[in-house]
Amino acid sequence: SAKQAGKNRFAYFTREMDENAHRRHRVMNELRRALQEKHFELYFQPVIELATGRIWKAEALIRWRHPELGFIAPSQFIPLAEESGLIDEISDWVFQQAVTYSRQWSELIKAPFQIAVNKSPVQFSLPKKDAWIDFLHSEGGTTPHIVVEITEGLLMQTSSQVTNLLQEYKAAGMQVAIDDFGTGYSSMAYLKRFDIDYLKIDQSFVRDMTTDPTNKTITDSMIAMAHKLGIKVIAEGVETPEQQQLLSEAGCDYAQGYLYSPPCTASHFESMLVSRNPGNKVQSKNTRVRY
Ligand code: C2E
Ligand code: MG
Ligand code: MG
Ligand code: MG
Repeated sequence: SAKQAGKNRFAYFTREMDENAHRRHRVMNELRRALQEKHFELYFQPVIELATGRIWKAEALIRWRHPELGFIAPSQFIPLAEESGLIDEISDWVFQQAVTYSRQWSELIKAPFQIAVNKSPVQFSLPKKDAWIDFLHSEGGTTPHIVVEITEGLLMQTSSQVTNLLQEYKAAGMQVAIDDFGTGYSSMAYLKRFDIDYLKIDQSFVRDMTTDPTNKTITDSMIAMAHKLGIKVIAEGVETPEQQQLLSEAGCDYAQGYLYSPPCTASHFESMLVSRNPGNKVQSKNTRVRY
């Protein structure tokens, strides 16, 4: 009967819910343990200034070294962290580390050195006090050399939460970048609604631009339009000299990708910063930031 079928469906539904709740609970415990036992590590990938070839800044990318499962990529656990609600704690740890390293490397090269940090869209969904701002206050309010990377989907939200938080970040001296640009449903028109500093062209466009004329046209237009809006452009996933050449010709400002370096440990990044930037005649201390 229909009633019986409905009951079965409900039984099935609740069983699935239990499993999800169970899984969520387990993942949450694992992530919490990883935080406590310091199994996360921040890697850094250089962003290159195309006009000079110098390392211009870094993007911080999280890594999880699980004691039993080994290396777990962020694409595998960030969605779980978002779902389980632990993303805030993880992201606060990332932010504090990034602020500390940016200070250390600014001191090392005797110039402000910025680090870009990714912020999940789900972190904008609830009105709550932002721990990043609190952390900066607790540190005495010195200007952080931080770029906050958000995804373009956020730009379409008209909620004041997004606007307010981004304004707070800007007021604190941070900059804002739109990550993976071109993959979502937003458009250049949305860029005007916010005070955006950088646009990062998604690697899917960069990958095919040497072989696919359409992708090259799209990339060229994104760069030109961003510049008209006063926004600097970073190309992601640059792997070949040919891609670099086309991007330079199109007037792209910065590039990031395996052509220059994969994401690497803090100490490896620090030696690169010293050896690859001719101006930085400073001895690397290879210091590690404590948790
Ligand atoms: P994303 O922010 O777009 O980061 C760029 C990704 O591209 C990184 O993957 C990087 O390793 C990879 N990549 C860099 N150069 C190349 C290249 O030349 N070719 C190719 N094929 N890939 C390249 P990763 O480190 O696995 O991170 C994946 C995503 O996970 C990030 O994408 C970001 O959305 C997220 N993520 C990483 N760390 C954090 C974090 O601390 N917080 C949050 N919320 N998300 C993070
Ligand atoms: Mg990013
Ligand atoms: Mg990206
Ligand atoms: Mg991404």
